[in-house]
Formats: sequence, C-alpha cells, structure tokens
Amino acid sequence: MIMNGKRKLSENTDVLTGTQQVIRMALETMNEPPAMYDLLKEPLRMLTVRIPIKMDDGSVQVFTGYRAQHNDAIGPTKGGVRFHPDVTAEEVKALSMWMSIKCGIVALPYGGGKGGVACDPRTMSMRELEALSRGYVRAISQMVGPAKDIPAPDVYTNSQVMAWMMDEYSRIREFDSPSFITGKPLVLGGSYGRESSTALGVSIVLKEAAKMAGMAVEGSRIIIQGFGNAGSYLAKFLHDAGAVIVGIADARGALYDPNGLDILELLDRRDSFGAVTHLYPNRITNQELLVKECDILVPAAIENQLTEQNAPNIQAKLIVEAANGPTTYAATEILSKRGVLIVPDVLASAGGVVVSYFEWVQNNQGYYWPLEEVNAKLEQLLVDAFHKVYQTSATRRVNMRLAAYIVGLKRMTEAVKWRGWI
Ligand code: GLU
Repeated sequence: MIMNGKRKLSENTDVLTGTQQVIRMALETMNEPPAMYDLLKEPLRMLTVRIPIKMDDGSVQVFTGYRAQHNDAIGPTKGGVRFHPDVTAEEVKALSMWMSIKCGIVALPYGGGKGGVACDPRTMSMRELEALSRGYVRAISQMVGPAKDIPAPDVYTNSQVMAWMMDEYSRIREFDSPSFITGKPLVLGGSYGRESSTALGVSIVLKEAAKMAGMAVEGSRIIIQGFGNAGSYLAKFLHDAGAVIVGIADARGALYDPNGLDILELLDRRDSFGAVTHLYPNRITNQELLVKECDILVPAAIENQLTEQNAPNIQAKLIVEAANGPTTYAATEILSKRGVLIVPDVLASAGGVVVSYFEWVQNNQGYYWPLEEVNAKLEQLLVDAFHKVYQTSATRRVNMRLAAYIVGLKRMTEAVKWRGWI
C-alpha cells in the first residue's frame, strides 16, 4: 500500500522511467528525431539542496530539497513545491516533466518545473514550517525568479507557505516580487479562484468526458481518492452538481457507501491536511476503495495508485486523474483496452497551473480580475484542451494519455527547433 506506508524506491524510479516511456512514444509518433527525446528525457537543470533547520526541541534537522527545470524553450519554467516524506529526486524530475506537458496542452508560455522537500509537515510546528519554507527559498534563490522559474503550491503546501516563500524572496532581491510565486493569499497578490482552480478544472473536463461517454454527472456515482486541496473542493463541486459521492479516501484510509456519503459533514470535519476517515469506525483501505462499484473514479492523491494489479478490477467507466501520475502506463493500457475512458492527469489537473498563470499575469499587470472572469477563462481553455486531446486520440487511434503527450509536447518541440537547439 502506498498511501499508508513508505513507498519503495523502485516505485519512484518507475515514475521517471514511466514518463520517459510515454514521452518517447509521443515523440516517435510525431516523427521527431532521436535527439529530441535525448533532450526531453531529463530536466535541463536539477538542483539538490540541504537545509539545516533548528527544531522547536533545540535539535538541528537537515532536510533535503530539490528544484527541477525540465525545459525553458517556451518560457520560464513553472510548477509547485511538494512537502512530503516520500519526495525523491526521481519523483521531482518526473513531476517537472508532467508540468511541461500540462503547460503545453493549455498553451501557457511556460516550460515545466517542480520542487520538493522530503519532510512531514503534519508533524512540524508552524515555526518549523516557516523556517523550512524560507530556508528552501534561500537555497534555490539563484535558480528561480518571475522570468526564470515560478513555484506554486503542491501536496502539503498552501497559500501560507507561498506567502513565506514570497516574503523571503522579496527580502533576498530587496524588491517586492509577487510574480515570483503563485498560489499566494489574495491580499499578497493572489488570484481569485486559485485555491479551487485544480478542482474546478477537474470538474470541467469531467463534465466534457462524461458527455463523450454518454453519461450525466447528475446522479452518477463517484469515488474520489484524496481529500486534500483538489479532492475536497471537487467533492463539493460534484455534490453541488447532483452527483452521488459514494467513496472518499485520505492518507489514513477510505470510506464507501453505495447510497452516498454525507459530503458536507466530511468536509466540515477534515483537518488542514485533508484527514477525516480516521474519525469513522467503518474505514476500509485506499486499495479496497479503488475497486468498489462506481461510475466515475477520480484519483486525487499521489502517484502509482492504479497499477497492473488492480486495473483489471476497476469498476468505473470513466477515470479522471486529479492527482499527478496516479496510473502507471501498463494500467493505462489495460484500462483503455477494457473501454474505460481515462482523462489523464496532464489534462485533468491543469486547472491549477492555468489559474497560476492568470495570477502571474495579474501580478505583472498590477491589475486584478474578478472571480467570474478567472473562472470563465479557465473553462474556455480547458474545454478547448479536452476536445483537442480527444480529437487527437480519435484521429491518431491512440489512448488519451498518449494523445495528451502529443498535444502537450508539440509547442515545446517547435520552440526547441526555432531556437536552433535541434
Ligand atoms: N502543483 C500544481 C500542479 O501540479 C500547480 C502548479 C502551478 O500552479 O504552477 O499542477
């Protein structure tokens, strides 16, 4: 089990190898020369840092952090910072590559980047977390910047962490620098709609996908694995749209009720890390939940949840990936052959970075948009992106994941060639 315990190193290594495999297939389908794969199979830059922090008990703990910049042919790199005990170099590299594909699919003027620190914020005090956030920014400050590489929230980081990081960066540069980072609190230059944007994006593509699969969202039975930022907002949006949420999961376990869970109560009782299932006696495991009966399954937690082992037993007809990398490529093939429509992570979870882009644009303009404008622009971009990927999948006769990579890599390969790198 991955969510309730330590992942083996090989699982993380697989994330990178698996991503390289899909990038290679996409570039071959696009008739790109082998040198293009050689360039894109790893990030252009990867920094490993060690961050000593004085803990509340007087001891010193040294944390390992990373920042990867996959490719900056299109523009500055962009992507979140993850604080999680299982963060590794391979994982951060793969995450930066997924950001490139995501930005490509929605045609943002960015390449992919990603950061991470191996730590467990659930066991740290606010003071320790602030020191770590500031220490991380000091350690990577040479590599990042508003026109270079723009961080954002990811697993177990939030607007408070972004605020500390922005403040630290502004101190280093001796210049107010809101566009250095996105996902900030509103009062510090954040954007309306950023916090719920990943979930809103998932619900927008989920509705489009349901239409294509001949299903209605209203009345459909949905399982959401993960109750963090994406999963919790999504549960609310889908509940409001008349769907029946039959299952949810967090890092401690899962709940399932074929008649529907009381989502409003669960949202009310969850803690700031998205944990709630431990408050209920009838808990099952994450892996048990994934194979339960439902119409739509939304993995909204972490990597490698749908694998060769459980793919044959998944009952959903539609899978919409709100997490990064929840399905291995082997599982993608098994599920696609079984006629399950998968909306891949690089498309389904792009809403977060789209509104991050809007935030950065607003910071650069010093002019702020109302929520309706942000959400309307997000919807337009994602509906167009969904149909572009769906069409590519149909005309090239490839699964949605490969189609998404083909669409996502197109602009990057063009930019690389215009710059004369290949
Ligand atoms: N961490 C989010 C993602 O994986 C958002 C990244 C961003 O906003 O830059 O897409």
